[in-house]
Amino acid sequence: MRDRFRLDYVDPAEIIRKTGDFYEYPNCDREPLPRWSFGRVTLLGDAAHPMYPVGSNGASQAILDADALARHLGAATAATVEGALAGYDAQRRPATAGIVLANRRGGPEGVIDLVEARAPGGFVNIEDVASHEERERVVRGYAALAGFGTRSVP
Ligand SMILES: Cc1cc2nc3c(=O)[nH]c(=O)nc-3n(C[C@H](O)[C@H](O)[C@H](O)COP(=O)(O)OP(=O)(O)OC[C@H]3O[C@@H](n4cnc5c(N)ncnc54)[C@H](O)[C@@H]3O)c2cc1C
Repeated sequence: MRDRFRLDYVDPAEIIRKTGDFYEYPNCDREPLPRWSFGRVTLLGDAAHPMYPVGSNGASQAILDADALARHLGAATAATVEGALAGYDAQRRPATAGIVLANRRGGPEGVIDLVEARAPGGFVNIEDVASHEERERVVRGYAALAGFGTRSVP
């Protein structure tokens, strides 16, 4: 590992060796919930869908929740707060459940795993390992799932 991870300006292995104390924080998620809304109360962000923070997700999804919640509460079609929360729930709960489950398999950086699996000894031209289209499919597929497509971000 040390031979494979060299930088001109710093020695990462040496930094690790000279570090006295290490703190470990587990990444946690939860199974998607069957409902978020209870009367006039609902959930949002990590309280609603704690997920592995891969693919720039977690806080980003909380922001999309907030946007959706504001829209549903402000929509003329929502006659009651309960109705607005039901609409919010129906929009955001399935979307974020998919991301929670997808994040257990990793995010767009899966493209790195793909290249590593095919070329464990390294490569000269990445195109020989995975084409641009294939790499883009992995990254853009995840971005679309997460609602990060340029057309879907409000
Ligand atoms: C290592 C790591 C890397 C991450 N990287 C990213 C990233 O790149 N991109 C991204 O989008 N997300 C990332 N996340 C996820 C992101 O940090 C969370 O999804 C986000 O902070 C969730 O926001 P939230 O407001 O829902 O919850 P929180 O940020 O947890 O806020 C909840 C707040 O409520 C307070 N609170 C709890 N109980 C009470 C109580 N009883 N009374 C009053 N206050 C209370 C807490 O102290 C806290 O301040 C990462 C997370 C981790 C751990």
